[in-house]
Amino acid sequence: MTHWRYASATDTGLVRETNQDAIYVDSTLAVVADGMGGHAAGEVASALTIDLVCQNFREKSTWEGLFRAIEAANRAIIADARENPERFGMGTTVIAVGLTKDAAGVVSPTLFNVGDSRAYQLRDGALRQLSEDHSVAEEWVRMGRLTSEEAQVHPRRHQLTRALGVEDELQVDVSSIDAEAGDRILLCSDGLSNELSGEELVRLASAPMPLEDAVNQLVEAARQAGGRDNISAILLEFDDVTLAATPIKKTMKAMPAPEESNPKPNASFATRRRRRFTWRVGLSVVVFLMVLGGCVLVVHWYAYSTYYLGDDAGTVALYQGQPNGVLWYKPVKVLDTKYKAAQLRPADRQELIATIEEPTRFAARREAGALYGAWLLGQTPSSATTTTTLKKAAG
Ligand code: MN
Repeated sequence: MTHWRYASATDTGLVRETNQDAIYVDSTLAVVADGMGGHAAGEVASALTIDLVCQNFREKSTWEGLFRAIEAANRAIIADARENPERFGMGTTVIAVGLTKDAAGVVSPTLFNVGDSRAYQLRDGALRQLSEDHSVAEEWVRMGRLTSEEAQVHPRRHQLTRALGVEDELQVDVSSIDAEAGDRILLCSDGLSNELSGEELVRLASAPMPLEDAVNQLVEAARQAGGRDNISAILLEFDDVTLAATPIKKTMKAMPAPEESNPKPNASFATRRRRRFTWRVGLSVVVFLMVLGGCVLVVHWYAYSTYYLGDDAGTVALYQGQPNGVLWYKPVKVLDTKYKAAQLRPADRQELIATIEEPTRFAARREAGALYGAWLLGQTPSSATTTTTLKKAAG
Protein backbone atom coordinates (compact mmCIF):
# COMPACT_ATOMS: atom_id res chain seq x y z
CA MET A 1 0.00 0.00 0.00
CA THR A 2 1.31 3.43 -0.91
CA HIS A 3 1.22 6.10 1.75
CA TRP A 4 2.60 9.62 1.85
CA ARG A 5 2.74 12.52 4.28
CA TYR A 6 2.24 16.00 2.92
CA ALA A 7 2.53 19.75 3.43
CA SER A 8 1.80 22.73 1.22
CA ALA A 9 2.14 26.50 0.98
CA THR A 10 1.07 29.16 -1.47
CA ASP A 11 1.88 32.85 -1.53
CA THR A 12 1.01 35.84 -3.74
CA GLY A 13 4.66 36.87 -3.92
CA LEU A 14 5.91 40.44 -3.86
CA VAL A 15 4.86 41.74 -7.28
CA ARG A 16 1.46 40.32 -8.25
CA GLU A 17 -1.67 41.75 -6.66
CA THR A 18 -3.56 38.48 -6.46
CA ASN A 19 -2.71 34.82 -6.11
CA GLN A 20 -3.86 33.03 -9.27
CA ASP A 21 -2.23 29.77 -8.17
CA ALA A 22 -4.50 27.20 -6.55
CA ILE A 23 -3.35 24.06 -4.72
CA TYR A 24 -4.87 21.02 -3.09
CA VAL A 25 -3.36 18.10 -1.23
CA ASP A 26 -4.65 15.17 0.81
CA SER A 27 -3.56 11.59 1.41
CA THR A 28 -4.32 10.45 -2.16
CA LEU A 29 -4.09 13.52 -4.39
CA ALA A 30 -1.83 16.57 -4.80
CA VAL A 31 -2.59 19.28 -7.38
CA VAL A 32 -1.00 22.61 -8.32
CA ALA A 33 -2.73 24.88 -10.87
CA ASP A 34 -1.15 28.15 -12.03
CA GLY A 35 -3.91 30.29 -13.51
CA MET A 36 -3.50 33.06 -16.07
CA GLY A 37 -5.80 35.75 -17.45
CA GLY A 38 -6.91 39.25 -16.46
CA HIS A 39 -9.99 40.38 -14.47
CA ALA A 40 -9.52 37.61 -11.87
CA ALA A 41 -9.96 35.04 -14.65
CA GLY A 42 -6.71 33.26 -13.74
CA GLU A 43 -8.10 32.55 -10.27
CA VAL A 44 -11.32 31.21 -11.78
CA ALA A 45 -9.43 28.86 -14.11
CA SER A 46 -7.14 27.45 -11.42
CA ALA A 47 -9.92 27.14 -8.81
CA LEU A 48 -12.26 25.40 -11.30
CA THR A 49 -9.48 22.97 -12.11
CA ILE A 50 -8.78 22.10 -8.49
CA ASP A 51 -12.52 21.62 -7.78
CA LEU A 52 -13.19 19.40 -10.77
CA VAL A 53 -10.04 17.34 -10.44
CA CYS A 54 -10.76 16.63 -6.75
CA GLN A 55 -14.42 15.88 -7.33
CA ASN A 56 -13.89 13.57 -10.32
CA PHE A 57 -10.91 11.78 -8.83
CA ARG A 58 -12.91 11.02 -5.70
CA GLU A 59 -15.51 9.31 -7.91
CA LYS A 60 -13.03 7.38 -10.02
CA SER A 61 -9.54 6.99 -8.58
CA THR A 62 -7.88 5.26 -11.51
CA TRP A 63 -5.35 7.01 -13.76
CA GLU A 64 -8.03 7.20 -16.48
CA GLY A 65 -10.30 8.78 -13.87
CA LEU A 66 -7.73 11.47 -13.10
CA PHE A 67 -7.09 12.06 -16.78
CA ARG A 68 -10.87 12.47 -17.36
CA ALA A 69 -10.95 14.86 -14.40
CA ILE A 70 -8.36 17.09 -16.08
CA GLU A 71 -10.25 16.82 -19.35
CA ALA A 72 -13.46 17.91 -17.55
CA ALA A 73 -11.64 20.89 -16.01
CA ASN A 74 -10.43 21.92 -19.46
CA ARG A 75 -13.95 21.84 -20.86
CA ALA A 76 -15.36 23.67 -17.85
CA ILE A 77 -12.88 26.54 -18.27
CA ILE A 78 -13.66 26.84 -21.99
CA ALA A 79 -17.41 26.81 -21.25
CA ASP A 80 -17.04 29.41 -18.49
CA ALA A 81 -15.05 31.75 -20.74
CA ARG A 82 -17.72 31.36 -23.41
CA GLU A 83 -20.43 32.45 -20.97
CA ASN A 84 -18.34 35.21 -19.41
CA PRO A 85 -16.56 37.09 -22.21
CA GLU A 86 -14.63 39.19 -19.69
CA ARG A 87 -12.76 35.99 -18.84
CA PHE A 88 -11.93 35.28 -22.50
CA GLY A 89 -8.41 33.90 -22.81
CA MET A 90 -8.13 32.54 -19.27
CA GLY A 91 -6.26 29.32 -18.73
CA THR A 92 -4.24 27.34 -16.24
CA THR A 93 -1.48 24.83 -15.93
CA VAL A 94 -2.09 21.70 -13.92
CA ILE A 95 0.31 19.28 -12.32
CA ALA A 96 -1.02 16.46 -10.17
CA VAL A 97 0.11 13.32 -8.42
CA GLY A 98 -2.64 10.86 -7.61
CA LEU A 99 -2.54 7.50 -5.90
CA THR A 100 -4.28 5.58 -8.65
CA LYS A 101 -5.75 2.11 -8.42
CA ASP A 102 -5.15 -0.32 -11.29
CA ALA A 103 -7.30 -3.27 -12.42
CA ALA A 104 -5.58 -5.59 -9.90
CA GLY A 105 -6.39 -3.14 -7.08
CA VAL A 106 -2.75 -1.99 -6.70
CA VAL A 107 -2.44 1.65 -5.65
CA SER A 108 0.60 3.49 -7.05
CA PRO A 109 1.61 7.14 -7.61
CA THR A 110 0.94 8.62 -11.07
CA LEU A 111 1.96 12.04 -12.36
CA PHE A 112 -0.16 14.23 -14.66
CA ASN A 113 1.14 17.38 -16.29
CA VAL A 114 -0.04 20.19 -18.60
CA GLY A 115 1.98 23.42 -18.73
CA ASP A 116 5.09 24.58 -16.93
CA SER A 117 4.39 23.80 -13.29
CA ARG A 118 6.90 21.20 -12.16
CA ALA A 119 7.34 17.92 -10.31
CA TYR A 120 10.70 16.98 -8.81
CA GLN A 121 11.73 13.80 -7.08
CA LEU A 122 14.22 14.09 -4.21
CA ARG A 123 16.32 11.17 -3.09
CA ASP A 124 19.65 11.11 -1.22
CA GLY A 125 20.19 14.85 -1.63
CA ALA A 126 19.70 14.71 -5.40
CA LEU A 127 16.93 16.23 -7.46
CA ARG A 128 15.31 14.87 -10.60
CA GLN A 129 12.72 16.74 -12.62
CA LEU A 130 9.89 14.34 -13.43
CA SER A 131 7.82 16.67 -15.60
CA GLU A 132 8.57 18.22 -18.96
CA ASP A 133 7.71 21.93 -19.29
CA HIS A 134 5.26 22.65 -22.09
CA SER A 135 6.83 25.99 -23.00
CA VAL A 136 8.16 27.08 -26.37
CA ALA A 137 11.77 27.28 -25.14
CA GLU A 138 11.68 23.83 -23.46
CA GLU A 139 10.05 22.23 -26.51
CA TRP A 140 12.95 23.66 -28.53
CA VAL A 141 15.42 22.13 -26.09
CA ARG A 142 13.78 18.74 -26.66
CA MET A 143 14.00 19.35 -30.42
CA GLY A 144 17.70 20.22 -30.08
CA ARG A 145 17.25 23.83 -31.21
CA LEU A 146 18.35 25.28 -27.84
CA THR A 147 20.55 24.11 -24.96
CA SER A 148 18.91 24.04 -21.53
CA GLU A 149 21.17 26.97 -20.51
CA GLU A 150 19.90 29.00 -23.47
CA ALA A 151 16.32 28.06 -22.63
CA GLN A 152 16.64 29.48 -19.09
CA VAL A 153 17.13 33.00 -20.44
CA HIS A 154 15.16 32.65 -23.68
CA PRO A 155 12.40 35.26 -24.12
CA ARG A 156 9.88 32.51 -24.95
CA ARG A 157 10.55 30.38 -21.86
CA HIS A 158 7.27 31.55 -20.28
CA GLN A 159 5.18 31.06 -23.41
CA LEU A 160 3.15 27.88 -22.90
CA THR A 161 2.53 25.36 -25.64
CA ARG A 162 -0.13 23.58 -23.59
CA ALA A 163 -2.60 24.80 -20.97
CA LEU A 164 -6.13 24.08 -19.81
CA GLY A 165 -8.81 26.40 -21.21
CA VAL A 166 -7.32 26.93 -24.65
CA GLU A 167 -8.85 24.25 -26.84
CA ASP A 168 -10.92 21.08 -26.57
CA GLU A 169 -8.06 18.94 -27.80
CA LEU A 170 -5.82 18.78 -24.79
CA GLN A 171 -2.68 16.69 -24.39
CA VAL A 172 -1.84 15.45 -20.91
CA ASP A 173 1.46 13.80 -19.98
CA VAL A 174 0.77 10.78 -17.75
CA SER A 175 3.54 8.77 -16.12
CA SER A 176 3.96 6.34 -13.24
CA ILE A 177 6.33 7.55 -10.52
CA ASP A 178 9.09 5.14 -9.61
CA ALA A 179 9.57 5.94 -5.92
CA GLU A 180 10.99 4.43 -2.75
CA ALA A 181 10.07 4.93 0.88
CA GLY A 182 11.82 8.11 2.05
CA ASP A 183 11.62 9.84 -1.35
CA ARG A 184 10.10 13.28 -1.44
CA ILE A 185 8.12 14.75 -4.35
CA LEU A 186 7.97 18.51 -4.82
CA LEU A 187 5.15 19.96 -6.92
CA CYS A 188 5.47 23.66 -7.60
CA SER A 189 4.37 26.56 -9.80
CA ASP A 190 6.95 28.42 -11.89
CA GLY A 191 6.97 31.19 -9.28
CA LEU A 192 9.12 28.82 -7.21
CA SER A 193 11.21 27.12 -9.89
CA ASN A 194 12.03 30.41 -11.66
CA GLU A 195 13.29 32.08 -8.49
CA LEU A 196 15.42 29.26 -7.09
CA SER A 197 18.34 27.35 -8.59
CA GLY A 198 18.37 23.57 -8.66
CA GLU A 199 20.88 23.58 -5.76
CA GLU A 200 18.61 25.74 -3.60
CA LEU A 201 15.58 23.62 -4.46
CA VAL A 202 17.27 20.39 -3.47
CA ARG A 203 18.81 21.87 -0.30
CA LEU A 204 15.53 23.29 0.98
CA ALA A 205 13.15 20.58 -0.25
CA SER A 206 15.20 17.71 1.17
CA ALA A 207 16.17 19.47 4.42
CA PRO A 208 15.88 17.05 7.36
CA MET A 209 12.97 18.88 8.99
CA PRO A 210 9.19 18.55 9.14
CA LEU A 211 7.56 18.93 5.71
CA GLU A 212 5.64 22.04 6.86
CA ASP A 213 8.89 23.82 7.69
CA ALA A 214 10.49 22.74 4.42
CA VAL A 215 7.64 24.08 2.21
CA ASN A 216 7.54 27.32 4.17
CA GLN A 217 11.28 27.75 3.72
CA LEU A 218 10.94 27.11 -0.02
CA VAL A 219 8.26 29.78 -0.39
CA GLU A 220 10.18 32.22 1.79
CA ALA A 221 13.36 31.68 -0.26
CA ALA A 222 11.44 32.40 -3.50
CA ARG A 223 10.11 35.63 -1.93
CA GLN A 224 13.63 36.62 -0.89
CA ALA A 225 14.83 35.93 -4.43
CA GLY A 226 12.33 38.48 -5.81
CA GLY A 227 8.89 36.87 -5.53
CA ARG A 228 8.00 38.08 -9.03
CA ASP A 229 5.17 35.57 -9.46
CA ASN A 230 2.72 33.64 -7.29
CA ILE A 231 4.59 30.91 -5.43
CA SER A 232 3.17 27.46 -4.65
CA ALA A 233 4.75 24.29 -3.32
CA ILE A 234 3.51 20.90 -2.19
CA LEU A 235 5.87 18.40 -0.58
CA LEU A 236 5.03 14.72 -0.36
CA GLU A 237 7.12 12.17 1.50
CA PHE A 238 6.55 8.47 0.92
CA ASP A 239 6.42 6.24 3.97
CA ASP A 240 5.60 3.26 1.87
CA VAL A 241 5.33 2.73 -1.89
CA THR A 242 3.80 0.07 -4.08
CA LEU A 243 4.80 0.42 -7.72
CA ALA A 244 2.55 -0.03 -10.72
CA ALA A 245 2.77 -3.53 -12.18
CA THR A 246 2.85 -2.02 -15.68
CA PRO A 247 4.25 1.52 -15.44
CA ILE A 248 2.61 4.08 -17.74
CA LYS A 249 4.38 6.81 -19.67
CA LYS A 250 2.25 8.39 -22.34
CA THR A 251 0.72 11.57 -23.65
CA MET A 252 -3.06 11.30 -23.54
CA LYS A 253 -5.17 13.26 -26.01
CA ALA A 254 -8.43 14.62 -24.66
CA MET A 255 -11.46 14.31 -26.91
CA PRO A 256 -13.80 17.18 -27.83
CA ALA A 257 -16.77 17.47 -25.50
CA PRO A 258 -19.62 15.07 -26.42
CA GLU A 259 -22.29 17.82 -26.48
CA GLU A 260 -20.27 19.64 -29.11
CA SER A 261 -20.75 16.83 -31.62
CA ASN A 262 -24.24 18.34 -31.96
CA PRO A 263 -23.73 20.60 -34.99
CA LYS A 264 -26.29 23.29 -34.07
CA PRO A 265 -24.76 24.87 -30.94
CA ASN A 266 -21.38 24.30 -32.48
CA ALA A 267 -22.29 26.31 -35.57
CA SER A 268 -23.88 29.14 -33.58
CA PHE A 269 -20.80 29.38 -31.41
CA ALA A 270 -18.56 29.46 -34.46
CA THR A 271 -20.61 32.28 -35.95
CA ARG A 272 -20.54 34.22 -32.71
CA ARG A 273 -16.79 33.88 -32.49
CA ARG A 274 -16.32 34.87 -36.10
CA ARG A 275 -18.54 37.92 -35.69
CA ARG A 276 -16.62 39.07 -32.63
CA PHE A 277 -13.39 38.50 -34.53
CA THR A 278 -14.57 40.58 -37.52
CA TRP A 279 -15.79 43.34 -35.23
CA ARG A 280 -12.41 43.49 -33.52
CA VAL A 281 -10.50 43.45 -36.80
CA GLY A 282 -12.75 46.22 -38.14
CA LEU A 283 -12.11 48.37 -35.11
CA SER A 284 -8.36 47.76 -35.35
CA VAL A 285 -8.36 48.79 -39.00
CA VAL A 286 -10.28 52.01 -38.22
CA VAL A 287 -7.92 52.88 -35.36
CA PHE A 288 -4.92 52.11 -37.56
CA LEU A 289 -6.20 54.34 -40.37
CA MET A 290 -6.93 57.18 -37.93
CA VAL A 291 -3.43 56.98 -36.50
CA LEU A 292 -1.94 56.81 -39.98
CA GLY A 293 -4.05 59.80 -41.12
CA GLY A 294 -2.95 61.72 -38.02
CA CYS A 295 0.70 61.02 -38.84
CA VAL A 296 0.26 62.23 -42.44
CA LEU A 297 -1.40 65.47 -41.20
CA VAL A 298 1.40 66.11 -38.69
CA VAL A 299 4.09 65.56 -41.33
CA HIS A 300 2.21 67.77 -43.80
CA TRP A 301 1.84 70.50 -41.20
CA TYR A 302 5.51 70.27 -40.25
CA ALA A 303 6.63 70.24 -43.91
CA TYR A 304 4.84 73.55 -44.68
CA SER A 305 5.10 75.22 -41.28
CA THR A 306 8.00 77.48 -42.26
CA TYR A 307 9.10 79.95 -44.96
CA TYR A 308 12.46 80.85 -46.32
CA LEU A 309 14.16 83.15 -48.80
CA GLY A 310 16.24 81.54 -51.49
CA ASP A 311 18.01 82.37 -54.70
CA ASP A 312 15.91 81.41 -57.72
CA ALA A 313 18.13 81.95 -60.77
CA GLY A 314 19.41 85.27 -59.49
CA THR A 315 16.12 86.50 -58.04
CA VAL A 316 15.26 86.56 -54.34
CA ALA A 317 12.32 84.19 -54.02
CA LEU A 318 10.07 83.32 -51.11
CA TYR A 319 9.42 79.61 -50.51
CA GLN A 320 7.03 77.80 -48.21
CA GLY A 321 8.34 74.55 -46.71
CA GLN A 322 11.49 73.04 -45.23
CA PRO A 323 14.56 73.97 -47.39
CA ASN A 324 15.39 70.30 -48.05
CA GLY A 325 11.82 69.07 -48.12
CA VAL A 326 10.22 66.48 -45.81
CA LEU A 327 9.60 63.01 -47.25
CA TRP A 328 7.60 63.64 -50.43
CA TYR A 329 6.74 67.27 -49.48
CA LYS A 330 8.97 69.59 -51.52
CA PRO A 331 9.11 73.34 -50.77
CA VAL A 332 6.81 75.49 -52.92
CA LYS A 333 7.78 78.91 -54.35
CA VAL A 334 5.06 81.34 -53.28
CA LEU A 335 6.53 84.65 -54.43
CA ASP A 336 9.23 86.12 -56.68
CA THR A 337 10.37 89.40 -55.17
CA LYS A 338 11.63 92.06 -57.54
CA TYR A 339 15.04 92.07 -55.85
CA LYS A 340 18.01 90.54 -57.62
CA ALA A 341 20.42 88.44 -55.62
CA ALA A 342 23.24 90.52 -57.10
CA GLN A 343 21.74 93.60 -55.43
CA LEU A 344 22.35 92.25 -51.92
CA ARG A 345 25.37 92.80 -49.72
CA PRO A 346 27.91 89.97 -50.27
CA ALA A 347 27.33 88.47 -46.79
CA ASP A 348 23.54 88.56 -47.31
CA ARG A 349 23.99 86.96 -50.74
CA GLN A 350 25.93 84.11 -49.12
CA GLU A 351 23.17 83.69 -46.58
CA LEU A 352 20.55 83.72 -49.30
CA ILE A 353 22.27 80.87 -51.13
CA ALA A 354 22.23 78.87 -47.88
CA THR A 355 18.55 79.96 -47.50
CA ILE A 356 17.22 82.31 -44.82
CA GLU A 357 14.44 80.75 -42.73
CA GLU A 358 11.54 82.83 -41.49
CA PRO A 359 8.57 81.71 -39.39
CA THR A 360 5.84 83.37 -41.49
CA ARG A 361 5.25 84.56 -45.02
CA PHE A 362 4.95 88.12 -43.75
CA ALA A 363 8.28 87.96 -41.91
CA ALA A 364 9.96 86.52 -45.00
CA ARG A 365 8.71 89.35 -47.20
CA ARG A 366 9.81 91.91 -44.66
CA GLU A 367 13.25 90.32 -44.42
CA ALA A 368 13.62 90.40 -48.22
CA GLY A 369 12.81 94.11 -48.19
CA ALA A 370 15.19 94.75 -45.31
CA LEU A 371 18.04 92.98 -47.12
CA TYR A 372 17.45 95.01 -50.26
CA GLY A 373 17.17 98.17 -48.19
CA ALA A 374 20.45 97.45 -46.48
CA TRP A 375 22.11 97.13 -49.90
CA LEU A 376 20.51 100.37 -51.12
CA LEU A 377 21.69 102.29 -48.06
CA GLY A 378 25.22 101.01 -48.75
CA GLN A 379 25.03 102.20 -52.38
CA THR A 380 23.73 105.78 -51.95
CA PRO A 381 23.62 106.81 -48.34
CA SER A 382 21.75 110.18 -48.65
CA SER A 383 19.62 110.14 -51.81
CA ALA A 384 15.96 111.09 -51.39
CA THR A 385 14.87 109.13 -54.45
CA THR A 386 16.51 106.03 -53.06
CA THR A 387 14.74 106.51 -49.73
CA THR A 388 11.40 106.60 -51.58
CA THR A 389 12.33 103.43 -53.44
CA LEU A 390 13.35 101.85 -50.15
CA LYS A 391 10.00 102.75 -48.57
CA LYS A 392 8.17 101.24 -51.50
CA ALA A 393 10.30 98.12 -51.42
CA ALA A 394 9.97 97.68 -47.69
CA GLY A 395 6.20 98.16 -47.90
MN1 MN B 1 3.19 31.34 -12.48
